[in-house]
Amino acid sequence: MKRRDFIRLASMAGIGASAFSWAGIARSATPAQLGTVPTNTGITGRVVVIGGGMGGATVAKYLRLWGGSGVSVTLVERETAYTSNILSNLVLNGQRTISSLQYAYSNLATRYGIKVLKGEVMAIDPVGHSVALADGSKLPYDRLVIAPGVDFDTFAGLESPTAQALVPHAWKAGPQTTQLRNMLLAMKPGEVFAMTIPAKPYRCPPGPYERACVVADWLKKNRPGSKVVILDANPGIIAEPVAFGNAFNVVHQGVVEYHPGVTINSIDATTMSLNTSIGNLKAKVINAIPPHKAGKVVVANGLANAGGRWAGVDVLTYQSTAAPGIHIIGDASATTQPKAGHIANQEAKVCADAIVRLLAGRSPDPSPITNSACYSPITSDTASWLTAVFAYDPASGTMLPVPGASGEASARSTENYKEMTKWFNTLMEDSFA
Ligand SMILES: Cc1cc2nc3c(=O)[nH]c(=O)nc-3n(C[C@H](O)[C@H](O)[C@H](O)COP(=O)(O)OP(=O)(O)OC[C@H]3O[C@@H](n4cnc5c(N)ncnc54)[C@H](O)[C@@H]3O)c2cc1C
Repeated sequence: MKRRDFIRLASMAGIGASAFSWAGIARSATPAQLGTVPTNTGITGRVVVIGGGMGGATVAKYLRLWGGSGVSVTLVERETAYTSNILSNLVLNGQRTISSLQYAYSNLATRYGIKVLKGEVMAIDPVGHSVALADGSKLPYDRLVIAPGVDFDTFAGLESPTAQALVPHAWKAGPQTTQLRNMLLAMKPGEVFAMTIPAKPYRCPPGPYERACVVADWLKKNRPGSKVVILDANPGIIAEPVAFGNAFNVVHQGVVEYHPGVTINSIDATTMSLNTSIGNLKAKVINAIPPHKAGKVVVANGLANAGGRWAGVDVLTYQSTAAPGIHIIGDASATTQPKAGHIANQEAKVCADAIVRLLAGRSPDPSPITNSACYSPITSDTASWLTAVFAYDPASGTMLPVPGASGEASARSTENYKEMTKWFNTLMEDSFA
């Protein structure tokens, strides 16, 4: 399959055949034609979705499109709008603003009849089938979907809010991203930008390497003599090794200094220094990306049964292996697929299809397929890409890469850079429009 076909199919993968027939929609329908909530499916149920990010917004929308108006969907989100992490590295070089990455929830409410509630879910009662919000109110559910994204560990030395404020991770797009951009602008020629990469799994495997490239490219043009020092906890580049290996050794040679297998012992925000397994390093800017775990609502409610950090799920339904009736999608779940926005969108569709079937008293699709595409800027006008297709493997009960259907760009190009915007807009429309 060609890369363009992946992109074209991106918004369709994960769709189960019977969801279409229940909804009375032809299988060949285009995404635009799918934009109406059917009234005649005969399926009823109350679904609460926690978190309106890449996974939560998509599952809410497709539950209504495939389940119909009898499936009431309430989406609880603590922010007023969603800020995309995808492309947020381009805020650092000034090519994007944070506001250009923001998505309102109004389409989900007006076009699909989703009840959007601003609030934070604190507690889940899996026996009584309800969730409790921070304001004390409760919401009953027949099925609960949790899509809270990730939370972060704290580096030794950065325990106080004051220290944390001086060392932004900017791994959740928003004010920290703008702060990191401002810190970059304040650098003088010859100064060091140090960044740390946590051991996998973390969200967006190529993301930190992409960030290093974007920053290196900007420093080379605007702060000559400056360097990006990468301290990677992993034994080597874990995504797009060809593209990033070339970027570090050739394109940004002399600007990027890459160190694999590094442990961060502590960070001192007052002296801007890192104590690491390969020695001490002082920098003008420290961008320390901490190890990740599932969002707090998962961990606090006893659903992080995969190593105490991630939610174990059955990938046919994304139902928690710790509590029936609760589905966990996106970055918070432990699957063999990468923690990525595109995958969160795909998991959401498999999950929506499974819930609709379960509400109708049927079995989930036994052979879901998901895919992922990701573009990585290498300079301000070139990018590489990475794609993967995953299929359910009944023997292992996991999603495994389809042989021959995955790959990365052989070289960066300006065409890739242009297609990156198309891919991004298509994905975000599929989730939020
Ligand atoms: C710099 C960067 C670049 C990236 N680039 C790419 C890329 O190119 N391609 C790609 O596919 N992925 C990329 N990603 C990864 C992608 O952003 C995540 O994988 C994706 O956002 C995960 O979706 P999610 O729904 O699990 O979580 P999120 O999108 O983080 O959404 C979680 C939502 O839940 C809300 N929430 C959490 N807890 C509660 C609660 N208790 N109550 C109410 N609301 C709650 C949050 O406010 C948030 O809106 C990138 C990430 C970063 C940091």
